[in-house]
Amino acid sequence: MAEYYPKTGVCYDHTERSKIYMIYTFGCNAACDHCLVESGPKKRGKLDPTIAGELLRVGAAHGKNFLDLSGGEMMLYPKEVLEVASIARDLGYYVCLNTNAYWARTPTKARSMLSRLQEAGVQAIFPSASAYHLKYVPLERVKNLRQACWDLGVTYELNWVYSDQPETDEWIKQEMGLDGETIYFDSLTTSGNNQETMDRLKQVYTRRVPNDLDDCLSVHLGVNPHGHVVSSCQMTATNEKFMGTPFFLGNFYETPFEEILRAEQESPVVQFLYRNPHPALHRLLAEDGDIGEYYRTTFTARTYYGVTDYYLDLFRDDRIMSWMEQRLPEITFPRAELSAS
Ligand code: SF4
Repeated sequence: MAEYYPKTGVCYDHTERSKIYMIYTFGCNAACDHCLVESGPKKRGKLDPTIAGELLRVGAAHGKNFLDLSGGEMMLYPKEVLEVASIARDLGYYVCLNTNAYWARTPTKARSMLSRLQEAGVQAIFPSASAYHLKYVPLERVKNLRQACWDLGVTYELNWVYSDQPETDEWIKQEMGLDGETIYFDSLTTSGNNQETMDRLKQVYTRRVPNDLDDCLSVHLGVNPHGHVVSSCQMTATNEKFMGTPFFLGNFYETPFEEILRAEQESPVVQFLYRNPHPALHRLLAEDGDIGEYYRTTFTARTYYGVTDYYLDLFRDDRIMSWMEQRLPEITFPRAELSAS
């Protein structure tokens, strides 16, 4: 398997089925070319603390205890971040925050705001750095936030994006002294704010056959301001590619969230993927006596940027879907996994 980064960090310390990835707002001070949710200053659509709190309460009653707050840039609404984080903390969630660090203008400001976030229950910060972010957020602010995390004992993991500008990537790495620091990055999601950049990125990123795809744990429950509930943290602005597949679980404005979470718990496909990261399904299909030959001839030479697109391709195949619906419920999950639920 291709290796992206060591399998360490808070995402690996928590099970996929315990997670809620919350896109709180589509608005952002930045409008990065590569932004998969196509955020920007003019983008509308936001949750509020009451809605978020209700999702968290229902989630906690269904075994959720890990919250990844994201956007857009949720720190455009610092009071709401503090409110939502403290609701989550009181419900027993481990709380993480994704941010582009624009607000960490000075070391003092970074430390003072981070201290309030920590008090409200935020335990891990995932700041972003890339050639695209650099147009909107000076690197100094990311460094201020990193130092504040180190000083206050808040877990810090850098969200990195490989760009189509290798010299700028290298400059950022040197400026931040990233040698020896684990940086967290994802496979390419081909939607973004700037289609020309996305087309160039398609040349930069490698497509791989299923046997060579790595998994950075992207299959877990996500929600967004449209009300979408999707089993992927690679949600896009519209989530069109997920609709009609087992990953699109519903819309919490139309269906009670509790019902959606029950459907999540009862979905053999989703539960299998939560408990058995890639390449488990690939191996199962390839080695199966009934579907194996069809799967091997149809899928093993196809290439994908990441596991999400691979799974979506499988979901579009009627033979594979009907095999999964029939066979996956029979799969017994490892006992350790079950006892942790
Ligand atoms: S990538 Fe992050 S910082 Fe950039 S526009 Fe999207 S949400 Fe904002």
